[in-house]
Amino acid sequence: MPEWIKLTARDIFDGRRFLGEDKVLVMRPDGAVEAIIDRSEAGEEVRRLDGWLSPGLINTHCHLELSHMKGRIPEKTGLPDFLTTVMTQRQPDSPEQIAEAIAAAETAMLEAGIVAVGDICNTVNTIPQKQKSNLYYHSFVECMGFVDASAPARFAQMQEVYQAFRQLDAAGVHTTTLSPHAPYSVSATLFRLLSDLREEDPITIHNQECFAENMLYESRAGAFLGFYKNFGMDISGFRATGQTSLPSYLPYFQSPGNMLLVHNTFTSEEDIRFAAGSAKNIFWCLCPNANIYIEDTLPYIALFREQGGVMTIGTDSLASNHQLSVWEEAKTLHEHHADVPLEEIMQWATLNGARALGIENTFGSFEKGKKPGVTVIDKDSKKVSI
Ligand SMILES: [Zn+2]
Repeated sequence: MPEWIKLTARDIFDGRRFLGEDKVLVMRPDGAVEAIIDRSEAGEEVRRLDGWLSPGLINTHCHLELSHMKGRIPEKTGLPDFLTTVMTQRQPDSPEQIAEAIAAAETAMLEAGIVAVGDICNTVNTIPQKQKSNLYYHSFVECMGFVDASAPARFAQMQEVYQAFRQLDAAGVHTTTLSPHAPYSVSATLFRLLSDLREEDPITIHNQECFAENMLYESRAGAFLGFYKNFGMDISGFRATGQTSLPSYLPYFQSPGNMLLVHNTFTSEEDIRFAAGSAKNIFWCLCPNANIYIEDTLPYIALFREQGGVMTIGTDSLASNHQLSVWEEAKTLHEHHADVPLEEIMQWATLNGARALGIENTFGSFEKGKKPGVTVIDKDSKKVSI
């Protein structure tokens, strides 16, 4: 007989719903879930925790490599100004400062009960930390380049970064794919090169994070034109499609597999309907605290729920957030959308996130045989050491 681990609390959320009082989560010593049973059947040695229990939280959108930029970028300036500041401030830190910030941010995520992260990578800076296998990571190696002529060179450059991350996959707690950055930063040729990979593992894109992105595609106008000019970029090859950004780029991707669309702050009902017909299995990732930080606005969540959109939660980076906590994002969503049950938001934060990253066989819910980790939530979320 193994030494069972028995945990109870005010309530248990199992990845789908709250089960109510007087339940006990029973696990094997290695953290594998055995069952959730009634307190009256649980016998002795039940450990009681303050708050309620949840499977480990899943952060489906992060930029760990930007952790050294915490507190540096002014809030509520809008995306083009935000990006300009990120791009012009990116260099000055020493490799040691960058590595320290990455380690501290990872520790904060672990302590806040996060067990798996979808992490955007433009550099190899997070590899040493990820080698320690403290968390599960899916590294989305990001390609960008809006000048069409430079697409093959950009693609080749990021292939090298991608190959470096692939070395981590052997440990079993890491996977990696190449992904486009955003519609306003990826040219038609670069979209084609990426979609030709016919990747079936999860990919991602920053989607409709600002109004200007839709304007660019609809009418080749808006704030991004000034942004390109500022950086001396020749965008003469770009043609408006007369549609918003989402239907302009999504048809490039014709292989099956998961695709996380991140932010979706300016996504319309029509866009959501269009995405439902995509070859990709679409997940809508919300990063509300970053949306408030950058654009001071939030996505219109009712639209996604009405159409059965599958939602997940991300923290974005410390360049655009005060902390990397999925629970803080869930709280913000709950505060702004009292009509959405917490149970539903918690499903976005756990099981949906695990599905999006393709790791639902291990993470996301308290089901027999899974090792999802345990998080206790009271005012804050905390990892439970078992
Ligand atoms: Zn992001």
